[in-house]
Amino acid sequence: MSIIDTDLLRQILPGLDLSEDSLDLMERYAQRLLETNENMNLTAITDPRGVTLKHFADSLSLLCVHEFPQRGVMPGKGAYSGEGTPCSLKVLDLGTGGGFPGVPLLLARPDVCMTFLDSTRKKLRFIASALEELNVPARFLHARAEDAGNLNSPERGKYDVVTARAVAALPVLCGYALPFLRKDGVFFAMKGLAAREETVAAQPILCELGARLVDCIRVALPEDCGERWIVVVRR
Ligand code: SAH
Repeated sequence: MSIIDTDLLRQILPGLDLSEDSLDLMERYAQRLLETNENMNLTAITDPRGVTLKHFADSLSLLCVHEFPQRGVMPGKGAYSGEGTPCSLKVLDLGTGGGFPGVPLLLARPDVCMTFLDSTRKKLRFIASALEELNVPARFLHARAEDAGNLNSPERGKYDVVTARAVAALPVLCGYALPFLRKDGVFFAMKGLAAREETVAAQPILCELGARLVDCIRVALPEDCGERWIVVVRR
């Protein structure tokens, strides 16, 4: 039996054109996630509707609510461009946990070169092994965000997009995420109920780091998913 309800996913995200290949890879990832979750704490959400809505639809909503940067896919390359492709969009998923929102984004967008960052090694190992099985290349950074983004780090200023869901309050999270962005790069913070207050509290650090709040968008998921917001910050 399938875990992901593709009709529900399409109904929630009508503007998103997901290929059969992408949906198949998402299903296989969801299967591995729930299997592995029996022995490792990757997610508290284990029912198929919850996985469809709170993990996949919520993650993919990033591609619908605000313009997500585009880069061309290299001609002659396979579906997944991986690391070496000069034109791939460089995205960092900070505090990825079980791979959200990074994995659904990567599987939906073949032009993305995704780096998964987390301070917990075993979670990264799980994502790496699951993606390897799906033959989808990605990069992995086992570090604390505040260390990996420090002044001397080669990761600094190198990403077009940073994403983060459920990692820290926005003022702290901006301090973690913004150093990774190149000039004009975009940070998408996926937040719950406190989004609006947190954007106010984050103003000083945004000024200090030369960034600005571009948008704060309510995500339309069914009510049992709770209130979801995407905060968009540009460097
Ligand atoms: N983004 C995922 C996981 C959220 S749980 C989701 O929404 O489902 C938060 C994750 O962030 C954990 O896996 C934790 O290890 C990681 N994390 C928290 N603080 C961090 C930091 N300073 N640097 C790197 N990872 C961090």
